[in-house]
Amino acid sequence: MPEGERGWCYTRINKSGRLYSLIYGEVSSLSINPIEKKPVFHFYPGSRWLSLGSLGCNFRCPGCQNWEIAHWKEGTLYSEYLPPEEAAARAKASKCVGISWTFNEPTLWFEYTLDSAKCAKPQGLFTNYVTNGYMTEEALDAIAPFLDVYRVDIKGFSEKTYQRIGHVKDYSGVLEMTKKAKECGMHVEVVTNIIPGFNDSEKELRGIASWIKSALGPEIPWHVTRFYPHLELGHLTPTPIPDLEKAWLIGKEEGLWYVYIGNVPGHKRENTYCHTCEELLIERYVFDVVTNKIKGGKCPKCHTPIPGRFSDV
Ligand code: SF4
Repeated sequence: MPEGERGWCYTRINKSGRLYSLIYGEVSSLSINPIEKKPVFHFYPGSRWLSLGSLGCNFRCPGCQNWEIAHWKEGTLYSEYLPPEEAAARAKASKCVGISWTFNEPTLWFEYTLDSAKCAKPQGLFTNYVTNGYMTEEALDAIAPFLDVYRVDIKGFSEKTYQRIGHVKDYSGVLEMTKKAKECGMHVEVVTNIIPGFNDSEKELRGIASWIKSALGPEIPWHVTRFYPHLELGHLTPTPIPDLEKAWLIGKEEGLWYVYIGNVPGHKRENTYCHTCEELLIERYVFDVVTNKIKGGKCPKCHTPIPGRFSDV
């Protein structure tokens, strides 16, 4: 990165040989959402979270739903400075249980997420990264003591797919950091947005599902979500529902306990069923929890412990 210039993500500048962030604390998007919107289904269902996004991304997904902020170039969007201690105070005042860094890639304003996570923890707040997982081990090591939830995209299972979707080829680090997040004790959930013609082959989906099972464990939830045409992929059709159901089946065949179909309101695979006895445990509609029968973290029928955190907060 030459002197006075910015890099690929446009959010850092080289000034006299040092890199400076241009987006520290610069909030482009702020809202309060249930955790189901991330989607995270096994960490205090129905809880309220303060969601914060900034600007920029290290990927350039051609169908990005948040491209206005994620594919940002200076001067095209408004943001407002929110000090890290104020982020925690805002979450508390809004009766949220935690802060999610979301909408754009959290590592783009890494220093800020770290500082605000450090402010959040003494206040009893949880913290959540909604991430593409493309980060260094050093970054994960730094944030890990202050991060509770790691909601990661695994967008495909081949270099070709990652190149087409994110414009990065080597995705091995995404897998390694996800594994490490789990080993560090974070609550991990995985999302694959299924884009017709990109990552919807059986080989690709089976690869993701079997990797989740072997590297993370069968209890890790996998969300297969419906793609809606957008941006450079506006010419595609939405993911056909039978294709999502096929992905769901692949996840189950590979031995995952909790596979969810997302972005299809009213689909029964939005619900949580006990992995032992199939009892309906949590009924959902879009981002709402309609009923939650889990008692003391267990299935009320067969008393199997349900992976995740479920007591009231
Ligand atoms: S990783 Fe997410 S935020 Fe970044 S470009 Fe892709 S879809 Fe958009």
